[in-house]
Amino acid sequence: MSSAQSTLAIYPGSFDPVTLGHEDIARRTLRVADQLLIAVAHTATQSKRPAFTVEERLAMLEEVFADEPRIRCVSFEGLLVDFVRREGAAFVVRGLRAVSDFEYEFQMAQMNREMYPETEFIFLTPDAHLSFLSASLVREVAQLGGDVSAFVSPTVLSRLSRRFDRGVSVEGTGSVGGEG
Ligand code: ADP
Repeated sequence: MSSAQSTLAIYPGSFDPVTLGHEDIARRTLRVADQLLIAVAHTATQSKRPAFTVEERLAMLEEVFADEPRIRCVSFEGLLVDFVRREGAAFVVRGLRAVSDFEYEFQMAQMNREMYPETEFIFLTPDAHLSFLSASLVREVAQLGGDVSAFVSPTVLSRLSRRFDRGVSVEGTGSVGGEG
């Protein structure tokens, strides 16, 4: 909960897994907010077959941001606007990589505002070298045995190797990847 003097931002997403792109957006957000709540969505996952459970994604986020006391990581279920309202957040932050992100992000922001007009969305762009990076690409490359060490932090890298060395998804369906 934000106090009267403190600005709370919420950064929602699937974070399957957290990448350096997500990290960049989160740390940039602290330039304009006092506190940041990173919120792993239970339902709004973009991946039909997630690589990591929500609990695993949260554990990775907590490890990655262990050095930053102004960031907390939680999961949430249900509508984002209900969560934003409950937490008393000043705004929702989202990352914009390229034009391809714009349409979805714009629709989502407008729809959320229809439901909860007080919600503000702020869009941040990452450092240029991270602007092509997505969690789904990282999952796919890691699953195929590629080197993703330039795209995720060491803690995420070791979990990815453990997950894909064994070649199982969280549903135990075998391979993970091949999706957008
Ligand atoms: P992804 O799209 O990589 O699967 P999420 O669904 O968890 O990741 O995305 C959560 C938010 O983070 C979205 O607003 C998304 O646009 C943003 N995001 C993801 N990767 C990057 C990146 N490399 N640079 C900037 N923003 C990003």
